[in-house]
Amino acid sequence: MIEKQTKSIFINGEWRPLEDGKQTDVVNPATLEKISEVSYGGRQEAEEAIQAASKAFSTWSEMSGRERSKILYKSYELMMEDVDRLAAILTTEQGKPLAEAKGEITGAAQSLLWYAEEASRAYGEWIPSSVSSKRMLVIPSPVGVVGAITPWNFPTSMITRKLGPALAAGCTIVLKPATVTPLSAVEVVKIFERAGMPKGVVNLVTGNSKEIGEAMLSSNVVRMITFTGSTNVGKYLMREGSNQLKKLSLELGGHAPIIVCKDADLEKAATLSLTSTFRNSGQTCICANRLYVDASVAEEFAHILKTKVDALQVGSGLEEGTNLGPLINEDAQTKVQAHVEDAVSKGAKVVSGGKKWEGTLDGYFYEPTVLSDVTDDMVVMSEETFGPLIPIQTFSDEEEAIRKANDSEYGLAAYVFTEKTKTALRVSEQLDYGIIGVNDVTPSVAEAPFGGIKQSGNGKEGGHHGMEEFLEQKFISIGID
Ligand code: NAP
Repeated sequence: MIEKQTKSIFINGEWRPLEDGKQTDVVNPATLEKISEVSYGGRQEAEEAIQAASKAFSTWSEMSGRERSKILYKSYELMMEDVDRLAAILTTEQGKPLAEAKGEITGAAQSLLWYAEEASRAYGEWIPSSVSSKRMLVIPSPVGVVGAITPWNFPTSMITRKLGPALAAGCTIVLKPATVTPLSAVEVVKIFERAGMPKGVVNLVTGNSKEIGEAMLSSNVVRMITFTGSTNVGKYLMREGSNQLKKLSLELGGHAPIIVCKDADLEKAATLSLTSTFRNSGQTCICANRLYVDASVAEEFAHILKTKVDALQVGSGLEEGTNLGPLINEDAQTKVQAHVEDAVSKGAKVVSGGKKWEGTLDGYFYEPTVLSDVTDDMVVMSEETFGPLIPIQTFSDEEEAIRKANDSEYGLAAYVFTEKTKTALRVSEQLDYGIIGVNDVTPSVAEAPFGGIKQSGNGKEGGHHGMEEFLEQKFISIGID
């Protein structure tokens, strides 16, 4: 199913052959087996891709929204026809359980569908003039060539969430996916190719992130960079992008709190807290990182949670019944271990898990882990673990819960469990986060805005807001005397 060598650089409608000395291995994180080799490009390939995207811009941006929509819609259909195969490739290179991978591919396709629909709806404005001698209108126009840089944790949906709206708006693209998960990116680009995307509109360059990033940052042609990844790299792009005042959309790290109120449905709150914490083995930007439970229900909640955590199955994502696959690499596994050791050395108790998984596979597994008796000085309470670990603290009143939940430099997602609408609204309004889930831990959908505040970034993906990121508002003032 996966070729030993995969062409992964696509410029101006052509796949480049792999070159000796410019290749890198793709490894299955569950077994540590090499699954393919891909191209490892750099500055030169990125510059050629930027030129191709620049050349294609006038053709693509001048097509009607309806025409662009047809290609996006066809891409959606092709992705949906191929969910099983695409999910298997995703799991093999990234590790998440097959059911989650299928969910990701379906979600990725939904972004293509949504923006196929939105492509025809980039409305402008007619502004009533204050003088009779003028007419005024505002027309949305595509930003231009966009550099898209994506992470490994959602290697398919992070691409379509950016490319769907950018392409619908009329922008052309240079895509740089994460080095560890290039195969999913290749598959997305092949889908666009098969759907009839004109040459040069979508270009793919895998390889040296620093060089490719520098080519994007130093080019006058690249007008916007849309990035999902770590806060540190986001800050770097913002600093360097300031030289040309580049437009930036940044989806960065998070540190999501869950608040379980005393009137919550505890069974539901425990089940969904697990989904949030352990989805993708905790490697999701909106994963729960801290759990705050009302002290009056804490014992009962902890009991329900432990029973459910202890029933989770760790293993290869390709095997049926697996709930948690491997982490992406050894560094990720070491980080979880370090967070656990730091917490335990400061007095935390291990309720479940707490060590590397000792199974039959060689990959980077870690047991689903719950800690109690945690204090705010423990690293896990402020740093993103990006692994299957959740610390639990109690609170005595709502004001304390909100204060603790907001005590973070991040502001991506927060969750509340309560059965009372007025509590839900009151707490949601006071949480300093871009996304709030009330009795809901999967708030990422094509039709609604997704994005953080504070050090979780800026800009939105999803909904009509997502497409507005890729449109400039051009004001036209017409003298009619
Ligand atoms: P990362 O190290 O920042 O990498 C993300 C992407 O940036 C990769 O394609 C990477 O390429 C590239 N990159 C790295 N250094 C670069 C540079 N100097 N110039 C240009 N590009 C560069 O992040 P990660 O570890 O892959 O992803 C995990 C982080 O992403 C977490 O913090 C998570 O919360 C965040 N995330 C946020 C969202 C959101 O929507 N807010 C969604 C998913 C993930 P290489 O792979 O070649 O290094």
